[in-house]
Amino acid sequence: MGQITLENVTKSFGSTEVIPPLDLTIEDGEFCVFVGPSGCGKSTLLRLIAGLEDVTSGQILIDGAEATTTPPSKRGLAMVFQSYALYPHMSVRKNIAFPMRMAKIPAEEQERRIEAAARALNLTDYLDRRPGQLSGGQRQRVAIGRAIVREPAAFLFDEPLSNLDAALRVGMRLEISELHERLKTTMIYVTHDQVEAMTMADKIVVLRAGHIEQVGSPLDLYRAPRNLFVAGFIGSPK
Ligand code: ADP
Ligand code: MG
Repeated sequence: MGQITLENVTKSFGSTEVIPPLDLTIEDGEFCVFVGPSGCGKSTLLRLIAGLEDVTSGQILIDGAEATTTPPSKRGLAMVFQSYALYPHMSVRKNIAFPMRMAKIPAEEQERRIEAAARALNLTDYLDRRPGQLSGGQRQRVAIGRAIVREPAAFLFDEPLSNLDAALRVGMRLEISELHERLKTTMIYVTHDQVEAMTMADKIVVLRAGHIEQVGSPLDLYRAPRNLFVAGFIGSPK
């Protein structure tokens, strides 16, 4: 279960409205990409969904249930930060276990989930290392592992690959797509990279200055961009 609905959601910082009234539904199991230029509100939107920021007005529903004021830890969503958000002094195992310790999940269950996540992410041989002893790609996998063990209703990724080099980015992009195939869990993925958007998404949400320019499948947006902004972003010929 992982349908997320925004109804008439707005966000202002002081007197500046960065998200004008916005409606959007992300279906259960969908891979939804938010794309748009720097400063257009992608992270803010993700943080509103995660509950890390409060909406100024409007409603957020998770599986149809009101969640606008639900604290982040009770929303059943997991945010994947860039790999540098790992704890450098903790082993991979402890980094992955951290959210489960906070949630007071029993030790054997923690162990079971860590083993499963490590297998899924090819980290089994690295559980006793520290983040500093891993490659960039492995560190990013640990960051994803930390989200997987929470068994969330949806994963929220905020430009997770932006500090990896180009070759590694391609590999991680495929790994995240495969993970989605396997788990079939809702994923919301923020990027300013058109290629990531076009290759990973079931649905792309094109944002500009906090509002939605267009929503559609990669093919929809490629074939029928609504305007030059969308066309420019998607790289289609219009
Ligand atoms: P993006 O992730 O698309 O680059 P952001 O969501 O980070 O964009 O930012 C959208 C706008 O909101 C920007 O103009 C940014 O300066 C502003 N903004 C974001 N967070 C804050 C904050 N905590 N306080 C004030 N302004 C903010
Ligand atoms: Mg951002």
